[in-house]
Amino acid sequence: MAAKREFDDFNDNTPAGVDAMAEKHLVQPWPVSGSIGAEARGFIESGEGIYVTDHTGRRLIDGPAGMWCVNVGHRNKELAQVMHDQAMALSYNSPWYTTNQPSAVLAKRLAGLAPEGLGHVFYTTGGSSAVETALRFMQFYNNVKGRPEKKMIVSREGGYHGSTYLSASLNGRPRDHDWMDSAREQILKLSCPNPFRRSAGMTEAEFTDFLVAEFRALIEKVGADKIGAFIGEPIMASGGVIVPPEGYWPRMRALCTEFDILFIMDEVVTAFGRLGHVFAADEAFGVKPDMITFAKGVTSGYFPLGGVMIASRLFEELRQSNHNDAMFAHGLTYSSHPIGCAVALKNLDILEEGLLDYAQSISGHFQSRLKALEDLPLVGEVRGRGLMAGIECVADHVSNNPLTLDLEVGKRIDKHCQELGLLVRPLINMCVMSPPLTISIAQIDEMADILRKSIVITQDELVREGLWKG
Ligand code: PLP
Repeated sequence: MAAKREFDDFNDNTPAGVDAMAEKHLVQPWPVSGSIGAEARGFIESGEGIYVTDHTGRRLIDGPAGMWCVNVGHRNKELAQVMHDQAMALSYNSPWYTTNQPSAVLAKRLAGLAPEGLGHVFYTTGGSSAVETALRFMQFYNNVKGRPEKKMIVSREGGYHGSTYLSASLNGRPRDHDWMDSAREQILKLSCPNPFRRSAGMTEAEFTDFLVAEFRALIEKVGADKIGAFIGEPIMASGGVIVPPEGYWPRMRALCTEFDILFIMDEVVTAFGRLGHVFAADEAFGVKPDMITFAKGVTSGYFPLGGVMIASRLFEELRQSNHNDAMFAHGLTYSSHPIGCAVALKNLDILEEGLLDYAQSISGHFQSRLKALEDLPLVGEVRGRGLMAGIECVADHVSNNPLTLDLEVGKRIDKHCQELGLLVRPLINMCVMSPPLTISIAQIDEMADILRKSIVITQDELVREGLWKG
């Protein structure tokens, strides 16, 4: 018999015990080496509607809806029931050799909801694997088409696309690459389309011209025959809710069409209701991509599922090629998972039976209540669309410079918000908000009031500590 180890008897399920087990054995995502493998994080015990409850019994508005994902809210009985029913009917089947009903029904339904032409879906386990799939499909497609040189991928500074090797190589936020390797030789980066950070004296229209000209110049420099895909989030989420300038998307799409570059929209955050649509590409931005990646809201975070909508014409081209035996050697054990697909179908029912309309109807109030925070000296800009918003703190309203500020200011605001009943997602000098779509007007008001109070407390604290001039 194996010797007893130190923790075999440890079975303390109290909050302190859970923290101890996490600290001893759990590797948290995005850790720093000073505490890697030895860190406990805030312990959330339960959720209900737009609220989560922490281990002290404190009820908090879930400002980021988990990670931009709990779109229908916590503890939705219909989603819980469908997971139970599907598990009892068929908990798993191998997508290598068989198929299941929910995945096919969902595929047909998604094809009907996606922009015209995106008639096929490949399911994954989340957003990174969806992005990875889209990129590997581009590589396969160009190999089969006899142009193996056409593989470079264009992404943007400020973007976030995932944590697998190739998807992470696309990322362009500060700190993403400081200590990590990446497939640099396959990636080209464009400027972040952040109107707030455009050069002084430039109009928004001139900024769009600049961004489009930059893309054209890159294509001409590198050669269209070397570039396989361009990928972008319609609104950069984890980069700080960056809404590109007017006219940007149709013109970027047009360049991709002109140079035969596959145009991939990463809708991992924006799809399934965040902007009031199932897919935002066409309905909110007027573009029809060649591929759309999605995850998160597709199951409202109840089950890890993602996928890529792919233009059916690409498959027709492949079927007509001279390489009938060329294999797209790519697939995940949990591709087309029956429980994930069943949950996604019920989630879509909820969205289409009123929640999308409701989200659209309250987004004006959400945006205007948060926008009003711009009168605070610490707040440089509040921006967003639909039910996603970013609050950016600056040293002053003239320079809009964050650098002379305590860059952990987002964490300070989050701490004060939590004391007042609101969870926010701190991002360096920013806070991002993306609550469950079920939030009421009164709850939006409560959220905005808590944010205002917490930012005022933070301002006073920074001045007191000599970290900000005020
Ligand atoms: N793409 C975008 C736009 C994201 O925001 C994220 C995650 O936040 C991802 C991809 C990666 O998704 P996942 O964490 O599910 O792998």
